[in-house]
Amino acid sequence: MSSASFIGAIDQGTSSSRFLIFDDQAQVVCSHQVEYSNNFPKAGWVEKDPAEIVDSVEQAIAGAVDKFVRKGHRIEQIKSVGITNQRETTIAWDSETGAPLCPAIIWSDTRTKDLVHRLCDEAPANGKDYLHKICGLPITTYFSAVKMKWLIENVPEVMEAQKKGTLRFGTVDTWLIYTFTGEYVTDVTNASRTMLMNIRDFKWDETALDFFQISRTSLPEIRSSSEIYGHFRDGLLKDIPIAGALGDQQAATVGQSCFEVGQAKNTYGTGCFMLFNTGEEVVFSDRGLLTTVCYQLGPNAKPAYALEGSIAVAGSAIQWLRDRIGLIQSAPEIGLLTDQVEDNGGVYFVTAFSGLFAPYWRDDARGCIVGLTQFTERGHIARACLESVCFQTKAILEAMHKDGNQNLNLLKVDGGMTNSDQCMQIQADILGIKVVRPAMTETTALGAAFAAGLAVGIWESVEALRKLSSSDVQVFWPKTTPHQREEQFSGWNKAVERSLNWA
Ligand code: ADP
Repeated sequence: MSSASFIGAIDQGTSSSRFLIFDDQAQVVCSHQVEYSNNFPKAGWVEKDPAEIVDSVEQAIAGAVDKFVRKGHRIEQIKSVGITNQRETTIAWDSETGAPLCPAIIWSDTRTKDLVHRLCDEAPANGKDYLHKICGLPITTYFSAVKMKWLIENVPEVMEAQKKGTLRFGTVDTWLIYTFTGEYVTDVTNASRTMLMNIRDFKWDETALDFFQISRTSLPEIRSSSEIYGHFRDGLLKDIPIAGALGDQQAATVGQSCFEVGQAKNTYGTGCFMLFNTGEEVVFSDRGLLTTVCYQLGPNAKPAYALEGSIAVAGSAIQWLRDRIGLIQSAPEIGLLTDQVEDNGGVYFVTAFSGLFAPYWRDDARGCIVGLTQFTERGHIARACLESVCFQTKAILEAMHKDGNQNLNLLKVDGGMTNSDQCMQIQADILGIKVVRPAMTETTALGAAFAAGLAVGIWESVEALRKLSSSDVQVFWPKTTPHQREEQFSGWNKAVERSLNWA
C-alpha cells in the first residue's frame, strides 16, 4: 500500500462548498462539491443558516473522501486540511451552547446601509475613511465589524449574549475551525477584512473596537495563515489537523503563485476580486482600492500585503439572469448567447445590485441596462452582462495605475466565470493586455492546501510551492485597437453615471 501524503482543502464559497484532496505535486486527486443557495428575505438582505454551511462542508468532505478511499487511499494519508472561505460573512454564536444566534450575514448583504451612514457621520474624522490608515478599509456595508454592530443593535439574542459575555463572532474560517476543532481562532487574512485588526501589528485595534463598541472577548485569536490551529474532534477526518486558513481571494493569490511584488490575479466567482501583491509594504490607495493582508505563511514568516479591487456582482449577475429573469437555463449558456452577436449593440448593463464597490464605493448605486433599441436582442444583454465585470476590472486597473503602482502586462485569472472563453476574450479586448487562465482552475483550494501543507512539512518553503505552479495555461490575446477600447469604456462610464445618479 502506498505511503504517499495528501492534503485536504475546504473551499467554502458563497454558492457552494467543496472539498478537494491534493497530492504532493499539487494535483487534484478527487473533489466533491455541494451547491447551495442563500436566502434573500428582504431587498438587500442575504443570509444563510450557519449550521447549513457546516452541513454542506461535511457533505463535501464525505463525497470527496469516499472517492479517495475508492481509489485505494487511506484517510490517514491526508496529513492536514486547509480552509479557504467567503470573506467578511459574519456569524454570531453563544459560547455556552456553541449554537448560532441568528443567520449568517453574507458579505454582499446591504442591510447595514443606514448604519454605515450613521457611522460615517459619527466618525471623529475623515468620515468613511476614519479607520482607513488603521485597517486599510473604508466604512461600508461590506466588512464584518459593521455587520457585527448591526447584529448587536438589532438581534435581541446577540445583545443578550453580549451582556452575558458569551457572544462569539466569527468569519466563516473561524466558525468552521470552532465547529470542527473547538479552537477559537482566525487567520490574518480573514481578520484583515473585519475592520477591527490593525494592519501593521496584526492585533485587534483599540480605536476600532471602541468605535464599533465590540468587545475583545467576542473575537477570536489572530494567527498566521499556515500553522496547526487544532484537530478534527470527530467525523471522517478525526485527529487530522486544520493547518491553514486564507480568505478565498488571498488563497487564490497564493494558489496562482503571485509571490512577487507586482504580480496580480483576478478571480471571477460570485463577486470578482483583483489582488495586487505589494510585498512587505503597506500601500494605501487614494482611489478606492483596499489595503489587505495577502498572506503570512507561518507564525514567524514575514507577511505580504495586497491592494485589492473588489467587484460585488460578477457570476451572481449570471445567476440572476438564470434564476430571476429566465434569459438562460444554465451559466454556460450565457457564452452561447453572447456568440450570437458581434458586439454589445450599444447596450451597457451596470450590475450594481448591491451598490458599486471598487473603485466607486457607492452603496446607493443601482443596477441599470441602458442603450436599448428595437434592434436589441437577448445576445446583447448576455454580452453586456459579461462586459460589466470586465469594465469594472478595467476601472480597477486604472485606479491602480493612477495610484502609482506599476502597470500590468498580463492578468492571471481564475474562478467559475473564467470557464467562459467568451468572457475571457471580452476581458482581453477591454483591457488591451493578455489574459492568462491556468488549466488547473482550482487555485483557491490550492492556496489553502499550500498553506496547510507548508505547516506540516509536506512542502519546505514558498520556493517549493513556486516550483509546483503549472505552466499549463491558456492565453487570450486582445484583438481591439486603443481607439475601440477608449470608445467602449467611455460608453461604460456614461452608464455608470446613470447607475450612480439613480438614487
Ligand atoms: P464562489 O467561489 O463565489 O462560490 P465560483 O468560483 O464557484 O464562485 O463561481 C461561480 C460563478 O461562476 C457562478 O455565479 C456562475 O454563474 C459562474 N459560472 C460558472 N460557469 C460559468 C460559465 N461557463 N460561464 C459563465 N459563468 C459561469
